[in-house]
Amino acid sequence: MDTGLAGKQALVCAASKGLGRACAMALAQEGVHVTITARGAEALEATAAEIRAATGVTVTTVAGDITTEAGRMAALAACPNPDILINNAGGPPPGDFRDWEREDWIRALDANMLTPIFLMKAVVDGMIARGFGRIVNITSGSVKSPIPTLGMSNGARAGLTGFTAGLARQVARHNVTINSLLPGPFLTDRLRGNAKAAAEAAGKDVDTLLAERAQSSPAGRVGDPVEFGAACVFLCSTKSGFIVGQNLLLDGGLYNSTMA
Ligand code: NAP
Repeated sequence: MDTGLAGKQALVCAASKGLGRACAMALAQEGVHVTITARGAEALEATAAEIRAATGVTVTTVAGDITTEAGRMAALAACPNPDILINNAGGPPPGDFRDWEREDWIRALDANMLTPIFLMKAVVDGMIARGFGRIVNITSGSVKSPIPTLGMSNGARAGLTGFTAGLARQVARHNVTINSLLPGPFLTDRLRGNAKAAAEAAGKDVDTLLAERAQSSPAGRVGDPVEFGAACVFLCSTKSGFIVGQNLLLDGGLYNSTMA
């Protein structure tokens, strides 16, 4: 399929590693010039070099915390008129809700609800004016099926999903689409980090625990971030303008229902 994306500009947030990186690489492989962000400059530059070497597109880096106003302004200064916005940030930590204070919740809401909303606010009118825009929010399978220990993620991402459902329908007639990708378990640093505590509690190493968990999934494995990047490209394609306000679960069949 010709995605029609060659020459377009994308702002891909939180993209030095994991799912954000996979989206940036997959878009670049379609000829999209990408601006990528992350807090750690070293990994960010390494990823930028890999994307440039693999694809030849222009890769701009912005080191900073995307969950802060300064981080968002820096990202938007580097890529003021993106055709594509991929919203992403680290997820909130797991834990017991009794231990979470207001500041913890505000951090989670800033990262996983308000930052994507403010970035959409900043770019969506330009997309409307140009008659093309694709926004993809990286959320979580927890939006459909809550993960009890990730209560702040469940809550903040549900808020983003609700807001997006309305906004997507306000902008769709301008060929601007907003959709979300809901990852189940994908083999990234985040997955390994979250599995560490569970592995220690069970007296197992992380790889054994992840292998056991993978077996319980219908797909019998965890996801490869490359598969996630491919789904992101599909939603960003010029052919996907009729896909509006959807929440696409990529979880190897873990969510058990007749209709997703
Ligand atoms: P990851 O492998 O840990 O990568 C996270 C990336 O985001 C890194 O490049 C990191 O770089 C960057 N980042 C984190 N916080 C940032 C911030 N405040 N500002 C700018 N960049 C930031 O994580 P992942 O697995 O790709 O997860 C991506 C998102 O999907 C997370 O919200 C996660 O909760 C969600 N998710 C993942 C899975 C999974 O199985 N992997 C499942 C469900 C949901 P720096 O640390 O240098 O900033």
